[in-house]
Amino acid sequence: MEMADVAPPGEPGPGEVIVRPQAVGICGSDFHFYLGELGTGDGSEFPRIQGHEVGAVVEAVGSGCEGGLSSGDSVALHPLSACGRCYPCRIGRYNVCDDFTLIGIHSDGGLQERLRLPESLVFRTTESRPAVAALAEPLSIAVRTVNRARIEPGEHMAILGAGPIGQAVALLGAERGASILMVDRLESRLALGSAMGAEVLPWTTPEEVTELIREWSGGEGPEVVVDATGVPDAIRAGMEAVVSAGRLVLVGISHHEVSLRAFGFVDKELDVLGVSCCKGDEFGEAVAFVERHGDRLESLVTQEFPLERAPEALRWAMEHPADSMKVVIGDIN
Ligand SMILES: [Zn+2]
Ligand SMILES: [Zn+2]
Repeated sequence: MEMADVAPPGEPGPGEVIVRPQAVGICGSDFHFYLGELGTGDGSEFPRIQGHEVGAVVEAVGSGCEGGLSSGDSVALHPLSACGRCYPCRIGRYNVCDDFTLIGIHSDGGLQERLRLPESLVFRTTESRPAVAALAEPLSIAVRTVNRARIEPGEHMAILGAGPIGQAVALLGAERGASILMVDRLESRLALGSAMGAEVLPWTTPEEVTELIREWSGGEGPEVVVDATGVPDAIRAGMEAVVSAGRLVLVGISHHEVSLRAFGFVDKELDVLGVSCCKGDEFGEAVAFVERHGDRLESLVTQEFPLERAPEALRWAMEHPADSMKVVIGDIN
């Protein structure tokens, strides 16, 4: 990764907005993209300006925009555009469009001084701290997760993985009235989960963790287990721990193969639910959540680097998972 001069975006076209990114969160999918694990495999996606978790300020609004945005507004950016034609798009699940475009992955993202976007991706927010507004994107994945999980008040939700997505799922689940248990092998991450009100359990072995999760839920197993790790042992433990007729929700990204007991699905009649990015209305829910809980969310931001040090920030975040939660590139403009 290197700093370079790029052409400015010019004037906004009809239905378009020019924003000035102020803060960009770095996340696990940035690591995967940077390492070449998310792309086509032939490198054709590079060079690319990364950055899909963006807190920004509106600079200019094009003609025909009807959302009421004005220059100077604080905004969070929904990174996803869909094709509108494929099967998931036709049935209203365009967040898993076969041909979607994510800013920072398929098109240039927020690690630059100006960005031109369709108005529909620009969400105004009363949250004026850009690094906190940028958290709307990881929060939106958590909104999608609890929606897919159909979490109900009084239910138990065990979350494997206490990174930023796990923490966000915990906050959303707690707000919906669920009891939350977070499991991780990193003490520092559990400490943060605990500070935000979750019960926590250190990861030991799949067998022991399965046992302890079931015990925590009252013996039968939690109604929902969310895997936010992508780690095979964790997914296996989740499948064993979840109650029969419960929901196992997978949101962690990895390229591991996972072997699972086939009868586990049958025996328990599990709903196994994958979670990708979210839809626009869910992004709006995430923005509203950020506005309600900005002060608590701010503690997820553990480091800030200026734009000039973005390459170093990405490497540092990849190498220091125990010392960082959300690394943010701030001071962009
Ligand atoms: Zn992300
Ligand atoms: Zn589509």
